[in-house]
Amino acid sequence: MQLTLAIIKPDAMEKRLQGAILQRILAEGFEVVALRQTRLTREQAEGFYAVHREKPFFDGLCSFMSRGPVVVMALSREDAVRHWREVIGATNPADAAEGTIRKHHASSVTENAVHGSDSQENGRLECGYFFPGVELL
Ligand code: GDP
Repeated sequence: MQLTLAIIKPDAMEKRLQGAILQRILAEGFEVVALRQTRLTREQAEGFYAVHREKPFFDGLCSFMSRGPVVVMALSREDAVRHWREVIGATNPADAAEGTIRKHHASSVTENAVHGSDSQENGRLECGYFFPGVELL
């Protein structure tokens, strides 16, 4: 079993897609190990996306991620990281495959509805950041 972090981003929250996204998560065979709604501070958003600090989109990305509530979830499943990335689709919705969450619900490359960890290591780290101790379950 692997852990991955999913976030329902502010654009999807504003469109009231929490239920639809959670339904898809369960249909895909994930266990929701932990879940909470929160609002990221600007500092938390900057810390979460620190690897993108030098990118031209960093400022807009952090404003977007802290503009309203998000739902953060630790998901477990066999091959969780790869499978969740497949379900959410490419970062840019223009490149996202049919049937993916981003294809249907993302508005732009920044406002792309959901987050998914990009490696097993980051899955553990990101779940541990939002839910201390959950990586031990
Ligand atoms: P992800 O793992 O698919 O979420 O993509 P990344 O980790 O590369 O980027 C993090 C987030 O930054 C993405 O989900 C987008 O919200 C945003 N982002 C990434 N690349 C771009 C870009 O080229 N332009 C803009 N405007 N936003 C981007």
